Amino acid sequence: MSTLEKICIAEGDGIGPEIVEATMMILNAAHARISSKKINMGEQVYLEGFSSGISPEAWEALNHHKILLKAPITTPQGKGYKSLNVTLRKTLGLYANVRPCKAYSPFVKTHFPKLDMVIIRENEEDVYAGIEHQQTLEVIQCLKLISVPGCERIIRYAFNYARQNGRKKITCMSKDNIMKLTDGLFHKIFNEISKEYPDIESEHLIVDIGAALLATNPERFDVIVTLNLYGDILSDIAAQLTGSVGLAGSSNIGQDFALFEAIHGSAPDIAGKNIANPSGLIQASVQMLDYMGQHDIAHKINTAWFNTLKDGVHTRDIFSEALTEKLVGTMEFAEAVCKRLNNVSSTHDFSKIKMSPIPEKNIIKTEIIKKDLVGVDVFLCEKNPNINALAETLIRCAGNQFDLKLITNRGVKVWPEGSERTLCTDHWRCRFKFSDVEKTQAEIRTLLFNLEKNGLEWIKLENLYDFDGKPGFSLGQGE
Ligand code: NAD
Repeated sequence: MSTLEKICIAEGDGIGPEIVEATMMILNAAHARISSKKINMGEQVYLEGFSSGISPEAWEALNHHKILLKAPITTPQGKGYKSLNVTLRKTLGLYANVRPCKAYSPFVKTHFPKLDMVIIRENEEDVYAGIEHQQTLEVIQCLKLISVPGCERIIRYAFNYARQNGRKKITCMSKDNIMKLTDGLFHKIFNEISKEYPDIESEHLIVDIGAALLATNPERFDVIVTLNLYGDILSDIAAQLTGSVGLAGSSNIGQDFALFEAIHGSAPDIAGKNIANPSGLIQASVQMLDYMGQHDIAHKINTAWFNTLKDGVHTRDIFSEALTEKLVGTMEFAEAVCKRLNNVSSTHDFSKIKMSPIPEKNIIKTEIIKKDLVGVDVFLCEKNPNINALAETLIRCAGNQFDLKLITNRGVKVWPEGSERTLCTDHWRCRFKFSDVEKTQAEIRTLLFNLEKNGLEWIKLENLYDFDGKPGFSLGQGE
């Protein structure tokens, strides 16, 4: 008897328990070589007082089994607990989110019958670091963190994935015309790594036109690699274009752990009604089987699932007058897939998906030859100051150590020579550059001390560095 691979299963919230039941029915009927342990995570666990949404027993089981098939979890919007999904991705080091989106035309209605793409989304960084601060009454910030090793790892993963899975082209999407340093780093590393893969065509698109092309001409894309937030949005669009957001599954891959889930959320609007499409989680389980090397079972389930769609057995979200033969609920759909498990013939080519993590290898050098402290941005909280009077005070505080270069409000220059039309809040960024004197943090401490003495409330500072003579900070708008 072959050994069973142990996995954890989380039933999630909303439609989670229904789609897990449907998916497990299929995995069991297909004789997937797995033994599963149910673990608790989600709303109920938050309510029991575990702020991560994951019980200690669940962590223990996860650390042991290392593979999780997970239903969607409800995350409070605009308040409350941190997203459990983000916690899982970061804690387990699941850096690559792989989201294949494919049209099943002519059996599922779509405007794009040839759509067949994979979105590879960076899964740990970007604004999903979740570092937010209210700094003044009027202004809140969210930090966007992008790192060299983080970019290198996901971009290398994407090229590796493309090569291993016979994909021909990678499109990188970023917004480096605006975020020249953060998104600029992603683009730059993409360009560097693409040179190592001359067999794969590569291009870069600014994410706004990229999203427009995705919505109108998605068949032009093969693999997309992008930052966390853009990837989250783009992959929902791509899944919807295949016919329903309920069709796509995704893999979250790390060095030691892997998590498989549908790309959709917990759909509270249709929970408990037996109308959810379980295909997203079924597809996630197929990816899990491929990841575990059970390609025979993955192929069997995929074929039966495809034949079910082909026979016009559809859930409500993909209903079409012309194509649907039988409108079914969640469990009936799963039963229909089970009935077809013994028919392995299909008109569709389900190749094995290879998505193993890449070997740890950082090639891009992060040692810098020279890092020079050249100044400081001090952020102040002031309600309705007179700008010229404020500038005079700041110049006094700067003494001989610093030159006040500019003051901005929400990134727009207001001194020297601002525009009267700029909407000003109580949040001011004041840029000081060292004069030709000692350039140390001690001078910055003196500056802060002088600001305090003059009754100014500094709320945050960012040191300004040159790296190998190049500024490691952006210019103010209008600077
Ligand atoms: P959603 O994906 O849950 O629902 C969006 C729309 O799609 C709804 O109309 C829903 O009925 C429909 N839909 C979703 N899945 C479907 C399916 N399988 N079959 C048929 N129709 C389906 O997105 P939302 O409403 O923005 O989010 C609901 C909750 O899910 C939120 O709390 C959100 O944070 C959470 N969420 C969780 C995950 C996850 O756990 N990975 C991902 C996304 C959203």
